[in-house]
Amino acid sequence: MQELQDVASAHGMPSYAAGQMARWLYKNKVRNIWEMTNLSKAAREKLEETRQVGGWDPLQEDVSADGTKKYLFPALASKGTGIEAVLIPEGNRNTLCLSSQVGCKLGCSFCMTARMGFLGQLTAGEMVGQFLRIPETDSLTNVVYMGMGEPLDNWSEVLKSLEIFTSDWGLAWSPSRITVSTSGILPVLGEFMEKTRVHLAVSLHSPFDAERAQLMPVQKAFPISHIIRELRTYDFTGQRRLSFEYILFEDWNDTQRHAAALLQLLRGIHCRVNLIRFHPIPGFSMRPSGENAIQAFKDRLQRGGIITTLRASRGQDILAACGMLSVQKKPR
Ligand code: SF4
Repeated sequence: MQELQDVASAHGMPSYAAGQMARWLYKNKVRNIWEMTNLSKAAREKLEETRQVGGWDPLQEDVSADGTKKYLFPALASKGTGIEAVLIPEGNRNTLCLSSQVGCKLGCSFCMTARMGFLGQLTAGEMVGQFLRIPETDSLTNVVYMGMGEPLDNWSEVLKSLEIFTSDWGLAWSPSRITVSTSGILPVLGEFMEKTRVHLAVSLHSPFDAERAQLMPVQKAFPISHIIRELRTYDFTGQRRLSFEYILFEDWNDTQRHAAALLQLLRGIHCRVNLIRFHPIPGFSMRPSGENAIQAFKDRLQRGGIITTLRASRGQDILAACGMLSVQKKPR
């Protein structure tokens, strides 16, 4: 809201215009400044010179055989690239997986986004725009920040976008419908926990430091043991959910030794583990775990008292599944 107040004051509008603009943007979901009919003509003319409302329309849509849809949005036009958001319909849920950065700095070895390198940050408007500008906007039930980028590496804009999603003046969504996923940017974690009430998902992928560092270079800066020590200081027994994401690689991190170490690492934390099937990408030699190993791993965690789910693999045929998002081509 502060930003809208700043816009109102910079354009010589009365302070209540911030509330009017918020209603147009997030309740009426207007796509054009001229639709904000209770703002003066002069104010709208000035706004039009400097502002774009409601993000950009998607440039392209790919539809998977399983109903998953991937949307390509323009971003950083000068660099000729874009970002992707994925709509995952599942029963009566419609989840939007949105991107928070153009590319990513963190270089996880199993991830196609990492291959793009880091090209730039998205604004809060561009994040919320992915939600507002798809045809299914009114039927969305959940939002996950699990697309391109590391949300906590673009923290100030991600926080603004969460305020837009959850404030009464914004989209008025319950925080319990939103999950932010992170690889574990420790210096930001405390502020994330204190300033928001959305769910948290942490990418874990191995309970062993050296192995995790092979997959995720961020482990060297912020070891998972330190992340977990910090998380132990918060209460996850209420509405707010903590989950750990674990991609299973054949004969690498899917053994009973790994499951036992994972149980040890998470002992006493109120959390769940989401197991994810790996989707092979070029130039990375690890293979997806077989069904028997997946089931044995899951059973071991459940016997150890951790709620464990196996995430269905969605949108693989349109390169929309976990770890596959990447924009190589120049958007039209
Ligand atoms: S997995 Fe996430 S944090 Fe790691 S490189 Fe890919 S987008 Fe970045």
